[in-house]
Amino acid sequence: MTNLLPVASSAQVRRYARDLFRRYPRVLGLTLGLHVLAAVAGLVGPRLLGDLVEAIRHGEGAGVVDRLAAVIAGFVVLQAVLTRFAYLWSARLGEQVLARLREEFVERVLALPLSTVERAGSGDLLTRTTRDVDALSRCVRLAVPETAIALITVALVVGALVLTGPLLAVPLLVAVPIIVVGTRWYLRRAPQGYLRQNAVYSTVTDGLAETVEGARTVDAMRRRSQRIERSDADLRRSWVAEKYTLFLRTVWFPVIEVSYVLPVVATLLVGGWLYLRGSVSLGQLTTAVIYVQMLIDPLDRLLGWLDEVQVGAASLARLLGVAAETGEEPAPIAAEPVGARIEVRDVRFSYVAGREVLHGIDLTLEPGERLAVVGPSGAGKSTLGRLLAGVHQPVSGAVTVGGVPLHDLPLDRLRTEVALVTQEHHVFIGTVRDNIAMVRPGAGDDEVRSALAAVHALEWAVALPEGLETIVGVGGHLLTAAQAQQLALARLVLADPHTLVLDEATSLLDPRAARSLERSLAAVLHGRTVVAIAHRLFSAHDADRVAVVEDGRITELGSHDELVAADGPYAALWRSWHGERVPDPNEPADADSARAGATH
Ligand code: ADP
Repeated sequence: MTNLLPVASSAQVRRYARDLFRRYPRVLGLTLGLHVLAAVAGLVGPRLLGDLVEAIRHGEGAGVVDRLAAVIAGFVVLQAVLTRFAYLWSARLGEQVLARLREEFVERVLALPLSTVERAGSGDLLTRTTRDVDALSRCVRLAVPETAIALITVALVVGALVLTGPLLAVPLLVAVPIIVVGTRWYLRRAPQGYLRQNAVYSTVTDGLAETVEGARTVDAMRRRSQRIERSDADLRRSWVAEKYTLFLRTVWFPVIEVSYVLPVVATLLVGGWLYLRGSVSLGQLTTAVIYVQMLIDPLDRLLGWLDEVQVGAASLARLLGVAAETGEEPAPIAAEPVGARIEVRDVRFSYVAGREVLHGIDLTLEPGERLAVVGPSGAGKSTLGRLLAGVHQPVSGAVTVGGVPLHDLPLDRLRTEVALVTQEHHVFIGTVRDNIAMVRPGAGDDEVRSALAAVHALEWAVALPEGLETIVGVGGHLLTAAQAQQLALARLVLADPHTLVLDEATSLLDPRAARSLERSLAAVLHGRTVVAIAHRLFSAHDADRVAVVEDGRITELGSHDELVAADGPYAALWRSWHGERVPDPNEPADADSARAGATH
């Protein structure tokens, strides 16, 4: 749980919410104005009803009564019409605010440093983008306008009550201590309760997502019962958290219900007594009792929605928390990289404090160079790749491109310098063309086709049911893992950063196809710097230089021939990869069996 993304403070939430609504002054003013008018129109009826009672009591003619009744009916219609437009404009305002919120959230998520997403796990982000955005949309669409309307109505009704007869407003006060004490008790506990409830829900989502994604491993390792236990434990915590907020509501709601009824009873009693003493008229008493009755509905809504506002505020705090994280983002770059040379200077890195994974790496990548990184599994190759691509920041030392630390570059600028392709790639819902052209909107048909051709994917892509216009991704035409990998590479060819880090980027293709793909990629990427983290040594053979990484250090660095001649660890790897066969490096590699000997 400690790794979850941060949550914004309540002061930040309040400031943000205030600024958000202030961005729409015209609509906000119009909405509030209409609600005030509607509420005032609603107040006229009871007042006239009081007059009606007085008129009848004083034996006025039917004409007066009819006229009053007609005016009352008129105000009821006016109130209905005003309310209709008031709600229409609140809905418009709500939608505008919500759209803005969603846009800002998407921008924030996309601006998140990759290392943060990796650390926090995608479950938390997923919960925030789904459950929290839903909760917030309910809050913005309904809770906020309803609360505002209720507040306006309560204020106006109390005002009208005082105008009717100041003494008649006094019995209202019986409700005040009950509501204040009850609500304060609730509000002191609710925010934490709801935050915890949402956080626990993130853990449940994380756990489930992990189990589903790793279903095969779970089966193979016979971890089923452990996974079930973990889910049970998460759900139990979620149950406890939900039960707590439910408990808060079961106390608060009944207390509030009582506080509604008491003022009506009190007004009738006190008002009756005042009437008997002759301090108020029967008409005033009628009006006052109706006003007190009229308070119940907006008060109830106010308090009811307060609950939703709490839930919404908790969600907003979580959504804004994502921004707090991006607050760490570097400021606009002070210096522009000069050239494309990447330098790694005495870089140390650890994922967990105290467990260093890289122990002082020095490496200079000349522009246009092809470097293969080989070494045993767990040696730190992928970690080095991520540092070269700016995903992680070194704990000490520096990774610079053209003299500028990678971490100082804004994300979109960084990606024009270095791109990382791993085994994980996402096929976006959309056409094959969109999936590739997304990195360079406005790319022509020729460019998309030649990018596909460069990764040997043009043939199958044009053979799809609708060619490049075929919809792929979830719910669309299903691509194989190898095809998805090719799409990712085609995207990269089109994006054309000057340095590429390929971390087992062709591992899903069969060895023959992989080697020929790597060769044609090399042709397309001519002049680009390529770092290939290789588990098949033909990549190493084809590269300009090979770096052998062992136990977090570069133990050998040189060309294939030099290293074979040096007869060190690389030569041993190379021999074991080739087994007893004559080492003919130009022969297409076969051998996943050899792979085992090479780096795994
Ligand atoms: P390679 O790519 O050479 O197989 P890695 O760079 O993946 O090696 O891993 C190097 C070391 O760092 C390993 O001990 C691995 O357990 C550890 N490691 C890798 N990724 C993480 C992570 N996200 N969190 C903590 N430790 C990690």
